[in-house]
Parts: sequence; structure tokens; C-alpha cells
Amino acid sequence: MSTMTEEPRDDAKVSLPGRQDAELVSMPRCTRCKLKYLPARSTSALRLTYCSFLCELGDLGFSMTGLETMERARKDDSEAATEPPAAEPAGAR
Ligand SMILES: [Zn+2]
Repeated sequence: MSTMTEEPRDDAKVSLPGRQDAELVSMPRCTRCKLKYLPARSTSALRLTYCSFLCELGDLGFSMTGLETMERARKDDSEAATEPPAAEPAGAR
């Protein structure tokens, strides 16, 4: 008899919050101000989450756009990146 227990392992936990209506997809609600908005008009980098970068700033305490710029500037300054991009084997376990 095999005593091996098979545990269901979900490496990718996919949870879709607020999956109720197809309308919610086209008109998402801003996570911060709870207002419906058009993602295409959002000034936030996370335009599927916030209606504007102000809400992004208010909720996160920073803006993704600002972070990107800082990161890039710092890297450029401190080190001349000569490393090749690390090639990760996709799903080799
Ligand atoms: Zn908002």
C-alpha cells in the first residue's frame, strides 16, 4: 500500500476580488475614493486600481512613476551596469 499523501498545492493562488459583474471590468472602482472611473483616463500608473495619481499617492504613500524614476537615476549613478540579465529557467523544478 502506498502511504504517500497527496497534498493539493496551489503555487499560484489566483483570487479575483469583486468578480460579480462584467460591468465592473469596464468601470472599475477606485480603491481609495470608491468612485467609478474610466481606466483609460486615470493618471495613475496603476490605472486599474486608482482613478488618479493623487489617489495612488494618498493610498500608497508614494507613486509608482516616482519610484521608477528614482530607481533608474540611482542605478545610473552608482554603478555602470555591466552585468548581463540573469537568465532564469522558466519553471524548472
Ligand atoms: Zn480615486
